[in-house]
Amino acid sequence: MTKHVDVAVVGAGFAGMLAAHNMRKLGLTVQGIEKGSEVGGTWYWNRYPGLRCDVESVEYSYSWDEELQQDWTWSERYSAQPEILEYAKHVADRFKIRELFQFNTAVTGATFDNAANTWTVTTDKGEAITARWVVMATGALSTPKPVDIKGHESFAGQSLFSTDWPSTPVDFSGKRVAVVGTGSTGIQLATEIAKTAKELFVLQRTPSWSVPANNKPLTAEYVASVKANYAAERERKRHSMDGLGLPGPEKAAFEATDEEREAYYQYIYENLSPFTFFGSYLDVLVDDAANQTISDFLGRKVHERVNDPAIADKLIPKSYPFGTRRTCIDSGYYEIYNQPNVHLVDLLESPMKQITPTGFETEAQAYEVDVIVYATGYDAFTGILNNVDLVGIDGANLRDVWKQGAKTYLGTMSVGFPNLFLVTGPQSPSVLSNVVVSLEQHVEWITDCIEYLTKQGYHRMEATQEAQDAWVEQNNAIGQFTVHRNSHSWYMGDNVAGKPHVVLPALMGVGPFRAACSEVAADGYRGFALAS
Ligand code: NAP
Repeated sequence: MTKHVDVAVVGAGFAGMLAAHNMRKLGLTVQGIEKGSEVGGTWYWNRYPGLRCDVESVEYSYSWDEELQQDWTWSERYSAQPEILEYAKHVADRFKIRELFQFNTAVTGATFDNAANTWTVTTDKGEAITARWVVMATGALSTPKPVDIKGHESFAGQSLFSTDWPSTPVDFSGKRVAVVGTGSTGIQLATEIAKTAKELFVLQRTPSWSVPANNKPLTAEYVASVKANYAAERERKRHSMDGLGLPGPEKAAFEATDEEREAYYQYIYENLSPFTFFGSYLDVLVDDAANQTISDFLGRKVHERVNDPAIADKLIPKSYPFGTRRTCIDSGYYEIYNQPNVHLVDLLESPMKQITPTGFETEAQAYEVDVIVYATGYDAFTGILNNVDLVGIDGANLRDVWKQGAKTYLGTMSVGFPNLFLVTGPQSPSVLSNVVVSLEQHVEWITDCIEYLTKQGYHRMEATQEAQDAWVEQNNAIGQFTVHRNSHSWYMGDNVAGKPHVVLPALMGVGPFRAACSEVAADGYRGFALAS
């Protein structure tokens, strides 16, 4: 039997929980659908040892309910995954959000009825739900990149995947372990596994920059001071470039003396979020020479932390400008290379040949291991949207429409797919910001939009080609203006074979993005065609 609702919300992560809650507040009927058995999204699925958020906990949390932010107290500067999942569960309990969702259910597709202006959402349970509006709150990093290493199925030992970690603890003691990948995930996993493994081989193709988290318990005084100013600070951050409102001197890098710059970088390194480097000087994300001053500083830090200069050198990124790949925070990552049980396998020097039944082979030598851990990343932004069948006007499938590159207007709607809202979709700040700030902005904008459409008696909303083209073009132009022009990364879709090179996140910044979305709304949803 087909169920009818006003709004279908896909995903019960931070975005989906808020979207479902907001739609109920509007008085609309809601059906949430979640593949997992619990709320939490990425914090439900990712549970590997060592997982910690790289945004400070007092920031990586909802700001839409003053009592919630006053009542909840974070224990550490950077929360570990279990605490963030507890927080999500607390929010679900507090606002009775679970009753809005059907769990353990995956959406398989959705098809638009061009005459009725409704979507029919189908699930792996064989159900169909019709909805006027669909909110895809499916996250930018929710679809693992398929393992693309020859022979990986042949491995006779234990294969573990960061994105699908066993729910019971894994004991690495006495084992020879390989970790493939040195992004945020691989760095966190390697640091943890190095503590107990007999031998750890870290398989690095492209090194990441990482800075010490300087994680610590939060004192009662600090928490009280944050809570005293929460509302005002959150508001300031909503209009900042990164959603974090990090400080930065209002001058270009070379307007500071070498000593001044060094002292400021050192101050950031010891005290502030690593993302502060992005705004440390006005030109570090646009001028190559200014950008290089950060790489030079951080390179010296790697040498301070790693005893063997040859290994330190291999750990230093050289193929991309600082900030064009995610900067990691770590809890002793570089120091693991001073341990006798940890070995860096440089795949740039000796490329991977294949995985074998007993281990892996590079062009230089064969290694025997008991466990292989894959931390090989995601099919970011588009993975989940391409993996289900989203069929819009005239039977067009989103995956075909996006074959040459994902395109949206304001990161939330794609031409030919009316009434289908994406949260933190392509060409929105999303992962290049404090994503909780960005998803709140997007969900609140969508909420206001659906309220407006409902009150005005509109049944259909669709991005116009002209508005979408201009939005995408502007984002590409900003990409060319910044150091991203010289980068290949998952931000551009480059990590997945066959995926087109497109600037996926909006690079304009969180505040300007918010302003642009607000102006569109104030102008009667300019760039969208509305119909009753
Ligand atoms: P990632 O940044 O895409 O890193 C994947 C790693 O796997 C890269 O080093 C990549 O090397 C390597 N790799 C992929 N395929 C490979 C192959 N066939 N052979 C050898 N190496 C291969 O993925 P991630 O580490 O999961 O992080 C993704 C994003 O998730 C982060 O940037 C961050 O936004 C988020 N995240 C955040 C946290 C946190 O808050 N602390 C933790 C985890 C993840 P190449 O670059 O050479 O392809």
